[in-house]
Amino acid sequence: MFALVDVNNMYVSCERVFRPSLIGRPVVVLSNNDGACIARSNEAKDLGVRMAQPWFEVRHLERSAGLIALSANFELYGDMSSRMMSLAAAYAPLQEIYSIDECFLDFDGMPGDRVAVGCDLRAKVLRWTGLPTSVGFGATKTLAKLANHVAKTADRKPSSYPHALAQVCDLGQLPAPALEAVMQATEVGNVWGIGHKTTARLNQGGIHSVLDLVRADATILRRQFSVVIEKTILELRGTPCMEVNDAPAANQQIMCSRSFGSPVTELPELVEVVSQFASQVARKLREQGCVAGAVQVFITTSSYRQQDRHHAPSATLPLPHPSADTRVLVSAAVRALRSIYRPGFNYVKAGVMLVDLQSPGQVQDTLDLFGADEPGPPPAQGRTGLMSAMDALNERFGRQAVTVASATRKDGPSAHASRQERRSPRYTTRLEEIVTVRA
Ligand SMILES: [Mg+2]
Repeated sequence: MFALVDVNNMYVSCERVFRPSLIGRPVVVLSNNDGACIARSNEAKDLGVRMAQPWFEVRHLERSAGLIALSANFELYGDMSSRMMSLAAAYAPLQEIYSIDECFLDFDGMPGDRVAVGCDLRAKVLRWTGLPTSVGFGATKTLAKLANHVAKTADRKPSSYPHALAQVCDLGQLPAPALEAVMQATEVGNVWGIGHKTTARLNQGGIHSVLDLVRADATILRRQFSVVIEKTILELRGTPCMEVNDAPAANQQIMCSRSFGSPVTELPELVEVVSQFASQVARKLREQGCVAGAVQVFITTSSYRQQDRHHAPSATLPLPHPSADTRVLVSAAVRALRSIYRPGFNYVKAGVMLVDLQSPGQVQDTLDLFGADEPGPPPAQGRTGLMSAMDALNERFGRQAVTVASATRKDGPSAHASRQERRSPRYTTRLEEIVTVRA
């Protein structure tokens, strides 16, 4: 049995923790250089603001509807994420961080009332971090994702789902007719990994709801689509078959994380691993033709090794310019790693996540007055000549054939330049930006 824990409107919720006056108001968070809306509060969604919509298209709502726009503050979001993740990790023996605001917990073989556990987790995360979450339980990851969708939407769409399923939803406890009613009320496009194009084709074939998909012939759909959709159908029927590599990528981020064969204590080894991971996500990023605005790194000790002290830090570094250059991303990842590493811990896993992804067309870069004499690559370019050559060599001679010699410029570019006029203070990671309380 899996749980999926997901923060509601993550970036907006992080902002609201420190500015409660934003609660109940329409709020959007803007991408690097204030270009597009990358997070929306429910109130902003109700105003019709679409995901990734350019800011200039909705700017008029500032006056007419009180829309509030904030610059992305990935240092804050990354730090809040790691606080939320470490609280969630305590609830199950296995945690798999899936994105900046989502993790799977494996509850296999754990006795007890899951809804009560989910409510407790939710209440604790809310009390300790201020972040509202939704928790979904299901026999497979796809069902846990679906349960989470129900938990998140039941309050907003009372006509679709019973109120009892709001916030914490355990599909594993529902009698068959109630489960079918939920699946009937959910559009097929809300299923994990079913994107816009697949949804349109499924709709053409008469498959509109999740229930339609569950009842469809999996073998025929595999022929029409791919083996992934067959696995999705089996998962919706309760048979776990998502291998790690089948799992659909999270929107708006690219991650590489792995457990080590044996614990790692020394920094140079971690630098090597993190450099490799950063190189891999950089390559994936270029395959998608995107650039990233920030890099998150996490390392963790094992919760199984009871003799070890526990340490599971993470750090998020915003880039001065969005980039897809391996050298820039590795350098940022290694700097983030150095900032969180502490000697004397047995680390068993590390991960690198790229967030704030944008296609280069979206990026409006600013002139970097202070970086003029840096030899770095031109900003905001998905594929420089060197990177294309590197990808081609690695394609031909195998991954890692050509790579950066990790790549830790001590005095690398600092995050000073991008236009972020509306950014909130980095309350939790910069002492000089800490909350001031007046009494
Ligand atoms: Mg979320």
